[in-house]
Amino acid sequence: MEEVYAFGGNPLDRVSERRADAAWLGALLDHADSRVALLSELKPLVRAGTPPTIAWQPLAPWRGLMDGGATWLLLGLADGRARFALDVTGAATSVPADGAFGDMRALAGEMDGGAAAILGEARALIDWHARHGFCAVCGTRSTVHSAGWCRRCPSCKGQHFPRVDPVVIMLPVLGERCLLGRNARRAGARFSCLAGFVEPGETLEEAVRREVREESGLIVARAHYVASQPWPFPSSLMCGFIAEATGDELKIDHSELATARWFSRAEVLAMVARSTAGDGAEDSLAPPIAIGHQLARRWASGEF
Ligand SMILES: [Zn+2]
Repeated sequence: MEEVYAFGGNPLDRVSERRADAAWLGALLDHADSRVALLSELKPLVRAGTPPTIAWQPLAPWRGLMDGGATWLLLGLADGRARFALDVTGAATSVPADGAFGDMRALAGEMDGGAAAILGEARALIDWHARHGFCAVCGTRSTVHSAGWCRRCPSCKGQHFPRVDPVVIMLPVLGERCLLGRNARRAGARFSCLAGFVEPGETLEEAVRREVREESGLIVARAHYVASQPWPFPSSLMCGFIAEATGDELKIDHSELATARWFSRAEVLAMVARSTAGDGAEDSLAPPIAIGHQLARRWASGEF
């Protein structure tokens, strides 16, 4: 099995082939074993604990809100029982006493992987609905179908599906050294891999070469795919690569990177240990929930 990072490893059966079955969906909504996860301003309701857990709620008290037009969706089935998500932002209904709304990034480092993945799925979908309420073809307000997994336009009949934005994230390496950079646009950013959105008409490997050349001036010979990670801020899919550089001369684009430099495997291992211990200093590494941390860790450990 491949390694799985934060927001990966979702244990639910997504039942994508049944989402459009309205009668089946109606039965799930009425079933006593069904549960719903609540999110307010994209913060999920969780129960405190070690680890924190999703504060699943019975559906009945929330059906009024769901039927009244609040954003909801079917996340999937857990052992045959339906799991929904509901956006309660601004709702007058009081928050259940057994939970509190928490920050998704912070929770991802504390929760079991499967639970974080379920909440990442909920966050990405609720945010997509919030940003895509109108038909991108003709501008008419669209309506929700397929248990929250499709929006249809009543005017031009266009169908719109949740978007996933591929991002390449790569560790340039040259022999026993790797290149890490600090993002120029995020205050307090720590050292991490280089990254950028894939553009239309590009393969992942071509995007790796383009981004590395643009940001650091390095030429990449080969790009080796390692792993991917859903990153629901709002809808990225991080595609992780090791990029073999052909030389070490840097020409840094300071609009993208505050700085970038070469590190030895021993230096990276020390940074991995510091960031795993929660050291957030700027000369530290991105936190373990980030695939950039994991790519650097695996390279420094001699895996590549
Ligand atoms: Zn339309």
